[in-house]
Amino acid sequence: MTALPEFDRHRPAELAEATELLAAHGDDAVVYVGGTELFLLFKLGFAEYPHVIDLKGIGELYGIERRDGGLRIGAAETHRSIERHPLVRQGWPSLAEMERGVGNLRVRTMGSIGGNLCFGDPHSDPATYLLAAAARLEARKGAERREIPVESFTTGPFENALDEGELLTGVLVPDLAPGAVIVHRKFVLTERPAITVAAHVRSDGSRLADVRLAVGSAGNRPSRVEAAEALLDGLAVDQLDGALAEVRALAADAADPVEDANGSVEYKRHLVGVLSGRILREAVAG
Ligand SMILES: Cc1cc2nc3c(=O)[nH]c(=O)nc-3n(C[C@H](O)[C@H](O)[C@H](O)COP(=O)(O)OP(=O)(O)OC[C@H]3O[C@@H](n4cnc5c(N)ncnc54)[C@H](O)[C@@H]3O)c2cc1C
Repeated sequence: MTALPEFDRHRPAELAEATELLAAHGDDAVVYVGGTELFLLFKLGFAEYPHVIDLKGIGELYGIERRDGGLRIGAAETHRSIERHPLVRQGWPSLAEMERGVGNLRVRTMGSIGGNLCFGDPHSDPATYLLAAAARLEARKGAERREIPVESFTTGPFENALDEGELLTGVLVPDLAPGAVIVHRKFVLTERPAITVAAHVRSDGSRLADVRLAVGSAGNRPSRVEAAEALLDGLAVDQLDGALAEVRALAADAADPVEDANGSVEYKRHLVGVLSGRILREAVAG
C-alpha cells in the first residue's frame, strides 16, 4: 500500500455540473461515491487521476421511492440505506437481505449500489440479484437520459456499458407479481463472494412461471441461465426435483467459471450447481 496520490477534488452539487467537469477534464477525471473501490486502487498504485469528482453532493443520485410500477433506488444510495429502508424491507425483503450480506458494516455504510455496479467487479452480489429481478439501470449525461437492461450493463470484468461522460443515476427494480419470489444466496471464502446465485420464480402452487436464474462471481461477468429457465418455465412443481440435475449442469455452464484464489473451475462448477438447485427449491417452497 502507498499513500494516496495528489489530486484536485471537485464537489458538484448537480448532475449538470458533474457532466461539465467530466467534459472539461476528460481522461484526467474520475468520479466516485463511497470510494471503497477507487481509493483502494489509488492506494495500491493501480490508478491515478489528477481530477477526482465526488458525486455525494448530487441530490438526483439519491432517493428510494416507488415509481412506474417498481422501486427506484438512487445510484448513490449505500448498501446500508437500501438494507434498512422500509419500502425495500416490505416490498423486496430478498433485496434487503442481499444488501445485508454485502461485505462488512464499513463497506455497507460507505459503498453505494451504483459504485458496486459501475466498478464491475465480477464478485458482486447486487449484479447477480438484479439480473434475477429483471432490473433496469438509469443513466444520464447532462439532460440525456437512457435506461439500460441490467444484463447489458456489465460488459466484462471491471467494464460497463456507460458512454464517456455518462453517469449511472438509478436502479429500477420492477414490482414482484403475486406469487413471485426472489431468492439470493452466495458462497464466501474470503471477503467477496466466490459464487452468487439468484432466482426469480412465480408459482400458483402447481406450475412454475417467469423463471429467471442468474449466476455470478464464478466467472468474468454474471449471466442468466436461459436454457434452464426455458426448461423450468411451465414445469409442474412436483417435477422440479427431476429437472434439477440438468438445471445444475446448465447453471455451471452459464457461470463459465475461471480459476482464481477461490478455487478451481471444477470446484466452482460444482458449487454453482449445488447452490442453483438449492435456491430453486427454496424459491418454490417460498
Ligand atoms: C472488504 C470489502 C468487502 C466487500 N464485499 C462485497 C460483497 O460481499 N459483495 C459485493 O457485492 N461487494 C462487495 N464489496 C464491494 C463493495 O460493494 C463496493 O466496494 C462498493 O459498493 C462500491 O461502492 P462505492 O460507492 O464505494 O464505489 P466507488 O469506489 O466510489 O466507485 C467505484 C467505481 O465506480 C465508478 N462509479 C461510482 N459511482 C458511479 C456512478 N454513479 N456513475 C458512474 N460511475 C460511478 C467510480 O468511478 C469507480 O470506478 C466489498 C468491498 C470491500 C472493500
